[in-house]
Amino acid sequence: MPTVDNTQNLTDGMHIVVDALHKNGLNDIFGVIGIPVTDLARHIQEIEGMRYIGFRHEQSAGHAAAISGFITQKPGVLLTVSAPGFLNGLTALANATTNGFPMIQISGSSDRAIIDLQQGDYEEMDQMNIAKPFCKAAYRINHPEDIAIGVARAIRAAMTGRPGGVYLDLTTALLGAPMDKDAAAKTLFAVTDPCPKMPPCNSAVERALTLLATAKQPLIILGKGAAYAQADDNLKTFIEKTGIPYLPMSMAKGLLPDNHPLCCAAARSEVMENADVVMLVGARLNWLLAHGKGKHWNPNVKYIQVDIDGKEMDSNRQIEAPVVGDIYSTMEAFVAGLSKHNIKSPDAWITTIDGIKKANTVKMEAKLNTDASPMNFFNALKAVRDVMVDHKDVYLVNEGANTLDDTRNVIDMYEPRLRLDCGTWGVMGIGMGFSIGAAITSGKSVVAIEGDSAFGFSGMELETICRYKLPITVVIFNNGGIYRGDHKNLGGGADPSPTTLMANARYDKLIEAFGGVSYNVTTPAELQKALSTAINSRKPTVINCVLDPAFGTESGHITSLNPKNIHP
Ligand code: ADP
Ligand code: MG
Repeated sequence: MPTVDNTQNLTDGMHIVVDALHKNGLNDIFGVIGIPVTDLARHIQEIEGMRYIGFRHEQSAGHAAAISGFITQKPGVLLTVSAPGFLNGLTALANATTNGFPMIQISGSSDRAIIDLQQGDYEEMDQMNIAKPFCKAAYRINHPEDIAIGVARAIRAAMTGRPGGVYLDLTTALLGAPMDKDAAAKTLFAVTDPCPKMPPCNSAVERALTLLATAKQPLIILGKGAAYAQADDNLKTFIEKTGIPYLPMSMAKGLLPDNHPLCCAAARSEVMENADVVMLVGARLNWLLAHGKGKHWNPNVKYIQVDIDGKEMDSNRQIEAPVVGDIYSTMEAFVAGLSKHNIKSPDAWITTIDGIKKANTVKMEAKLNTDASPMNFFNALKAVRDVMVDHKDVYLVNEGANTLDDTRNVIDMYEPRLRLDCGTWGVMGIGMGFSIGAAITSGKSVVAIEGDSAFGFSGMELETICRYKLPITVVIFNNGGIYRGDHKNLGGGADPSPTTLMANARYDKLIEAFGGVSYNVTTPAELQKALSTAINSRKPTVINCVLDPAFGTESGHITSLNPKNIHP
């Protein structure tokens, strides 16, 4: 590696990379260091306003970067070492792309000449080509004078159109390459308008509003694209002026408060089965919406879809009124269009929905208000709900199977973009990464509601949480297994069943090793007290919440996706 001669007013690739990120306001860098990027992380700490957040596993660092991208509308940055570190980060990069979170994975890589001849370098891997199918774009920078352009290309690729993951390959040679300091400074620039507005055309807006005006039983579905777009005011205005009921997808909960009279989450199946015109705003007709067809939907339903990505239209079924454009501009146009179009949800539809909501709420309250001992998901979640209602600005990170489905249904969100979860892929392992990313990016408190299995994928990051003294409370719903903890080995052998984990595991003890606060709770009252104390203290905390191992549905709400279910 060429050494930098300080007498000659030289800088090097690593410094220029850091300067280019800083120039573009990408100041929080999440990663795990090692050859060849250790000094790059040190240089980050030399710049005022920049932070390097070091993790225990690249996947968690990547999830932290991705979620900071979702929260801030700027690409979150992950820094990884070559080959194995790069691969560990790739799950997070792919998850960011699948979910539409802007993110850049920057990875050091080994010697190109040796990689290309496959001569066996330390951590040898053709990283850029391996990354390609998992991200929106992949670039390699070979010369220090190209760094500013390479970073600009990565930022634009991550942010333009549907946001997603970008891979940026930095070779060992580039990182050490010297360059004249003044010449390097001249190459730096901040990208102008990295995510240009893309308003939809008037005819598409007209077509959509005309269709919506014909609806007898209209429905608006808000997805995480709507959350990302930060069009909160116009969404609220449009929904309230038209009186159209809306259904928030998981990460769109809180765009309008979940207790809003037009929120019909508590009548989800019924509104899906009966709506005659559905307007999708930043939500895809994928598996999470039963692909927009079949028994879950009114056979005569017509769709309006607002999406930045034209390819999304007709992806699962015909879209009668496609509106291709950014949601912020589109909602402005929709609100303006209300002066011309008389759009009002008929009262009869709202009355029907209100009736169903009431009946379903009574059923849910009965499940929540039991004194079941050991606790189950529902009386435990009642305790969580009673605390969270007093902390409406706290982030809620959530993963698991039953833990995910039941928490989503029980815990109301009141503010935009505070619910962060497994998303489109149903990925496990986002828990600690999302929590750390949200806490670092926002400075706010985070509560993570974790299945005991889900927690295991990123549990070692408790050390990271304690090292950075983050206001994160991790509640582990411990029912001793994947889905549940009481299954037997069907072959009769002594090994635990495939779904079994240790029901008597004391996850709370883990955080004691790092100086955090721990609770082991067995009743809703204990849970409520521990959670409330933990949030108010802003101290890293784990609450091991002992649940009944015999409670839990195989695969949660998506049992039907299993090829078959053999367990009795
Ligand atoms: P959910 O899982 O909540 O239904 P999805 O991730 O399936 O949400 O869908 C989000 C959609 O939002 C994607 O199709 C994406 O292209 C779109 N999207 C993301 N950001 C914007 C934006 N600013 N404007 C318009 N559409 C967007
Ligand atoms: Mg479990």
